[in-house]
Amino acid sequence: MSRTHRTHRIAVLAGDGIGPEVMTESLRVLDAVEARFGFSTVRDERLVGGAAIDATGHPLPPETIAACEQSDAILFGSVGGPKWESQPPDLQPERGALLPLRKHFGLFANLRPGVCLPSLTHASPVKNELIPNGFDVLCVRELTGGVYFGQPKGREERDGEPVAFDTMIYRKSEIDRILRVAFTAAMGRGKRLVSVDKANVLATSVLWRETANEVAADFPEVALSHLYVDNAAMQLVKRPDSFDVLVTENLFGDILSDEMAMISGSLGMLPSASLGKQNAGGLYYGMYEPSGGSAPDIAGRGIANPIAQILSAAMMLRHSLGENEAAAAIEAAVARTIDDGYRTGDIATGAAAEIRVGTAGMADAVLERL
Ligand code: NAD
Repeated sequence: MSRTHRTHRIAVLAGDGIGPEVMTESLRVLDAVEARFGFSTVRDERLVGGAAIDATGHPLPPETIAACEQSDAILFGSVGGPKWESQPPDLQPERGALLPLRKHFGLFANLRPGVCLPSLTHASPVKNELIPNGFDVLCVRELTGGVYFGQPKGREERDGEPVAFDTMIYRKSEIDRILRVAFTAAMGRGKRLVSVDKANVLATSVLWRETANEVAADFPEVALSHLYVDNAAMQLVKRPDSFDVLVTENLFGDILSDEMAMISGSLGMLPSASLGKQNAGGLYYGMYEPSGGSAPDIAGRGIANPIAQILSAAMMLRHSLGENEAAAAIEAAVARTIDDGYRTGDIATGAAAEIRVGTAGMADAVLERL
């Protein structure tokens, strides 16, 4: 199929620590798929996080927000590090940049793949006999509602002692839209969706479950089931390969998606997407970033695993730019690179068949397989 040449605009915010190192490699991979699949990206590289604090005094300068507003998507590295830990809370790299970006762009759907490739099961803390073929779970987390943002929230004196309170609140429309993201994701994968709640205790969960059952009518091919969050946490460590897509509210998703990252074995392998508005063509405005942080312990040494950042670029191509073939090509090249034995330190075992590489070497191996 030949299509006319397409141009997309992206904001590139590399950030701190290993962010710039792994971003460089993901942009090389982007260059390669652009040449092969006949599109181009106009890239607006801007400061964010600690790097922006050093240059401008603020972790999210107005020029950076403006660049993001003029783009189809944000490719984000990671922010933070010991240097900026004594900043006031709202001027800290994560709190002062990531949270405002999510809020500004209404990024309500967080997609966190938890993937353990068959050749990397040794890196997973799950007993290897339980996951002979690895696993591939997608967690869809609601990101802008629930107890983190509900009002009233606060602290006061009652009967002579301090009390503190948070409010867990969900509108039906908020639940409906995140479920539609999850059902749609399930349609593109194994067509099995587990909705996670605590409907035996929480009113928000009862509304969540009712809404999930209603939305299911629009996706008759997807098999929907429900799990209580405590059971979901247990099943994830017992049989992660029994899941396809999991959808849940903000607090539960925060915890379960980190559990999934941990059982996957290496943060350096896991991308993520945070999606906001959807256009008429079904593409989302989104921000794409590795699940891990800025890894100050290994920054500047050229040894970080660039795959999480490379796969974040692939997610961007699929969900925001509509370049599905390029996304699939990157994912396939990454899987082959791992199958062929290429390992950065975080996923190495020392086995003789492994080919030890650094950040650039891993990207070279992916590029050779594209
Ligand atoms: P981290 O994810 O940065 O690091 C945890 C461990 O995983 C470290 O040992 C690190 O070396 C390793 N790791 C992470 N990514 C890797 C990669 N690509 N290749 C190889 N190893 C990798 O978490 P942390 O140490 O708790 O936090 C460090 C800093 O990052 C803190 O300032 C924190 O606030 C920030 N942080 C930022 C984000 C973000 O930007 N979204 C997320 C989490 C943490």
